[in-house]
Amino acid sequence: MEIIEKAPERIMVVTPHPDDAEGGCGATMAKWVKEYQTQIVVVLCTNGDKGTGDRSISPDVLASIREVEQQNASDLLGVQNVVFLRHPDGGLENDQEFRRELVKEIRRYRPQIIFCIDPYRSTTHTHRDHRMSGQTALDAACSYAWSSSQFPEHLEIEGLEPHKVEQAFLWGSEYPDVFIDVEGYLDVKAQSLSAHVSQMVSSTHEERLERIRNRTGDQGKLVGLKHAESFRRINFNLNFPNRIFTL
Ligand SMILES: [Zn+2]
Repeated sequence: MEIIEKAPERIMVVTPHPDDAEGGCGATMAKWVKEYQTQIVVVLCTNGDKGTGDRSISPDVLASIREVEQQNASDLLGVQNVVFLRHPDGGLENDQEFRRELVKEIRRYRPQIIFCIDPYRSTTHTHRDHRMSGQTALDAACSYAWSSSQFPEHLEIEGLEPHKVEQAFLWGSEYPDVFIDVEGYLDVKAQSLSAHVSQMVSSTHEERLERIRNRTGDQGKLVGLKHAESFRRINFNLNFPNRIFTL
């Protein structure tokens, strides 16, 4: 278990639906932008067009509402760039096309750390898009984005060089091992969730803030912090000769 005391210059947050990233790492994003001037790109994989029980809203209308909500939420946290891939909600596959899209954004924004949902759980189940986005983000980061022979058109047509992501931080993990002190950033996290107005119909902002306080309090207790967001870290072992994978 480790408390992360510094921040990288650039990160990418791969999120399946609008509002997942804010719940997973919203306070960390706000803190790193404010205290370390970290450059953050959020890649929103689906348009969230199935995210309602209200049959009077068409999927197209909902998708456009949620795109605005995602931009508003990201603006609140200080995120500089949001990329909308606009896959249909529930339609993600870990296939060549989705990998190509994520690799291209990795090569464009060149993050040192990629944040995504932990796709590997043993005792709990998650939404299929959560698993697919997490797994594809990891595959794209290591090792597709590294290899010049994967998607060579990115270099040939757009001048995007291969890029090595150093680490992945996975949120929603059953076994978190890195923690970030987010004291002072709980309210902005709650605000960024509240910005997803179409999704936040069953609770008030205050109830949301209270849940965040409890959750980050529980995580913080594990390492002696008052409030923490936690992640499982995967080190892609760039500098170790005994790395277990090959390009
Ligand atoms: Zn989701």
